[in-house]
Amino acid sequence: MGAQKYVYFFGAGKADGNAKMKELLGGKGANLAEMTSIGLPVPAGFTITTEVCTEYYKNGRKYPAALDAEVKTNLAAVEKLMGKKFGDPSNPLLVSVRSGARASMPGMMDTILNLGLNDTTVKGIIAQSGDERFAYDAYRRFVQMYSDVVMGMDKEALEHLLERKKEARGVHLDTDLTAADWKELVVAFKAKVKETLGADFPEDPEEQLWGAIGAVFGSWMNQRAITYRKLNSIPAEWGTAVNVQSMVFGNMGNDCATGVAFTRDPSTGENYFYGEYLVNAQGEDVVAGIRTPQPINKAKQKAGDLPAMEDVLPECYLQLCNIRDILERHYKDMQDIEFTIEKGVLYMLQCRSGKRTAKAAIKIAVDMVKEGLIDEKTAVLRVAPSQLDQLLHPSLDPKAKKEIIAKGLPASPGAASGEVVFTADEAEAAAKLGNKVILVRVETSPEDIHGMHAAQGILTARGGMTSHAAVVARGMGKCCVAGCGDIKVDYAGHKLVAKNGVVVKKGDVITLDGSTGEVMLGAVPTVAAEVSGDFATLMGWVDKFRRMKVRANADTPHDAKTARDFGAEGIGLCRTEHMFFEANRIAAVREMILSEDIEGRRKALLKILPMQKGDFKGLFREMKGLPVTIRLLDPPLHEFLPQEEKDIKALAETMGVPAETLRHKVEFLHEFNPMLGHRGCRLGVTFPEIYDMQVQAIMEAACELVKDEGFQIVPEIMIPLVAVTKELGIMRANAVAVCEEVMAKYGVKIEYLIGTMIELPRAAITADSIATEADFFSFGTNDLTQTTFGLSRDDAGKFLPFYVENGILDDDPFVTLDQNGVGCLVKMGCEKGRQTKAGIKLGICGEHGGDPASVMFCDKVGLDYVSCSPFRVPIARLAAAHASLGA
Ligand code: ADP
Ligand code: MG
Ligand code: MG
Repeated sequence: MGAQKYVYFFGAGKADGNAKMKELLGGKGANLAEMTSIGLPVPAGFTITTEVCTEYYKNGRKYPAALDAEVKTNLAAVEKLMGKKFGDPSNPLLVSVRSGARASMPGMMDTILNLGLNDTTVKGIIAQSGDERFAYDAYRRFVQMYSDVVMGMDKEALEHLLERKKEARGVHLDTDLTAADWKELVVAFKAKVKETLGADFPEDPEEQLWGAIGAVFGSWMNQRAITYRKLNSIPAEWGTAVNVQSMVFGNMGNDCATGVAFTRDPSTGENYFYGEYLVNAQGEDVVAGIRTPQPINKAKQKAGDLPAMEDVLPECYLQLCNIRDILERHYKDMQDIEFTIEKGVLYMLQCRSGKRTAKAAIKIAVDMVKEGLIDEKTAVLRVAPSQLDQLLHPSLDPKAKKEIIAKGLPASPGAASGEVVFTADEAEAAAKLGNKVILVRVETSPEDIHGMHAAQGILTARGGMTSHAAVVARGMGKCCVAGCGDIKVDYAGHKLVAKNGVVVKKGDVITLDGSTGEVMLGAVPTVAAEVSGDFATLMGWVDKFRRMKVRANADTPHDAKTARDFGAEGIGLCRTEHMFFEANRIAAVREMILSEDIEGRRKALLKILPMQKGDFKGLFREMKGLPVTIRLLDPPLHEFLPQEEKDIKALAETMGVPAETLRHKVEFLHEFNPMLGHRGCRLGVTFPEIYDMQVQAIMEAACELVKDEGFQIVPEIMIPLVAVTKELGIMRANAVAVCEEVMAKYGVKIEYLIGTMIELPRAAITADSIATEADFFSFGTNDLTQTTFGLSRDDAGKFLPFYVENGILDDDPFVTLDQNGVGCLVKMGCEKGRQTKAGIKLGICGEHGGDPASVMFCDKVGLDYVSCSPFRVPIARLAAAHASLGA
């Protein structure tokens, strides 16, 4: 041991540490060291390492033996530099004690300023500053902070004494109190501490120092910090560092100030100095909101603002501008800084890379490449894929007025306005007339899909972030507010009633904000998302660096267009079931289902064929030769029939069949667990004519386009829910026969692929065998997750949130791929597939295709592409680039 260093010094241009030592010194300590060594004016001090924190807890709250001596040595070095002595009656050194973990944990641990003051040293401060009021103001602040942070005193009690003092003096502002007032308050504060806690306020500076150090280390394990770490996945082993730094004072008069600034605008990314300051104030006053801080520069001044720092302290302002340039050139990133000016001299107290919006992140990254500060790869890595979500949905115009009537879960981002409707059919009907609607349901179910498609946004009173409404809406890139307990849906009364009493009737207009969960009255104007300007520039770089292709899940030419606009390089999943649901086809579909023999089914299917062909043509045209994967019918047939008695009756009437017949069919098709029932290729195996018709439609569409419009198309036909090689073998043979027949009929030869979804564990486990019949695999990780976990996504809402909250699962496995379980099956499927067929095309088409962490995983196992909902395509592109760049 022995040789271990526990304390790192910084001051007068020299520092033991540097910016790379964040793990040991915490973010604050590492950057104080770095700023010191690049010559910026940083008050001298030292950092006690995070290792001390770790050992402190390992050894039953005892410090390492060597710490005491190291603190003494470093304190002496600070004293020497400052020409002051800690605890000295005539020339006292005062310090701040500041926490600082590796990752910033705002508001978690407190800072103590002005430490070292007592009834003796305060006289020294008066003598030195010639300012009694300042000295006692500093002293009372210290007593307030220390008794709160270290001794556990209730802040309010002292605040109350201060208020009483102001009342007694007949003043409103702290600044109106005199030296004598503050002096009396110090006495009163201490007495109150003694009365409340039964302990004396410590006079001995050394005791104060160790008390403060202990409080910072102690705060690492307080409930607030533990909760914060859990929410932000910060390990407890990291520990916090403690920074002890000589004080500088922004509150010694009008040539003093304190402020915070960003080297660029953190909200827009604009390249100008953005900051706020207060004259004659100490540190936390700027954020505390007691006084309103002022902009530092004239350019950002609004009418009614007090003078800018640029005017009030012009020399310091210029110096600060210079430091801004130095910091940006040094760190090559936007910095968030704290500074204080004492009697016209500027000091730097903190810097770190600044938090920013997605918009700002992109602009700053692109600008910094143009300025030659960073290269394109760095720029790409500067933007977090998940951040992009903010930019990809229409959003409410920030300048608009809003009347909020309720708040639910922000289930799918974006904003939408429209007339309220309460059923999916109403939504569809209204959309047909060109009306914009918001579909309001207690909960949604698969039967509502057409209404959700037609609606601008979805509002549900029940259900969580993984409810049907939430999942489907996110897939559609549609705004959704779920689980909004603030509203009561009254289907019979065609109205909803908000908790605050507001009644919204069918046809009334509301607006949803899927990013905040807010429900508003009336149409709040929105702005549409697009990839342009800096965003487009950045995405251009992204595409240079990524290996994996990105496709979209899209069922209609409209979705395909959106996908293309967002940069999709193909369609990875076209679901065909919606093509059966449309009003003019559902009758034929039902006729097919009710037919007792194959001839009857063929006849009905023949009616659907030209419409499906039209759908595929539209899709192929929109994708202009890019690959399109079409999945043959997947859901069980009962989904196409009504379930309610009255609907059955009504349908029977329109179809001209006895209600009895229809009811029988519905009963016959009923399944206890449709998710694991007669669906996917099991339909294809038992009713081959359905898949034959679909393959025919696909190939005829392709042949006609090739022949008539000179297209390049390679259709990829995908067989769902295969568990056994033979299933795929049969389906493949059927499909090949149809393809050959169609091509012969048209006299054209086109390339086509037949592959399968790997969405059952058995398929992954036997992928080597399945590959003998497949040209490609697409991992359907939604079903693969359901079947691997043995849980149904639609029922998971009852317990999954609890699992995630309590750490039983790290993440919702339907959002982020479960790499250790489901991921293993994906990996195995890839390896076994390639074992049989080296060049087999591999992709993923579950919701995970748009989740950054899952995309990184897909890159690692070597997938050729990911496919996600159109609105997540840019996120997937960026995540794929991050993966290629080894992020
Ligand atoms: P946080 O991590 O919450 O920002 P800080 O340790 O940065 O806490 O300190 C809080 C405030 O106190 C900041 O405004 C900071 O600038 C100020 N401050 C900290 N140390 C000193 C010091 N040595 N001299 C003057 N002000 C200080
Ligand atoms: Mg700070
Ligand atoms: Mg599936």
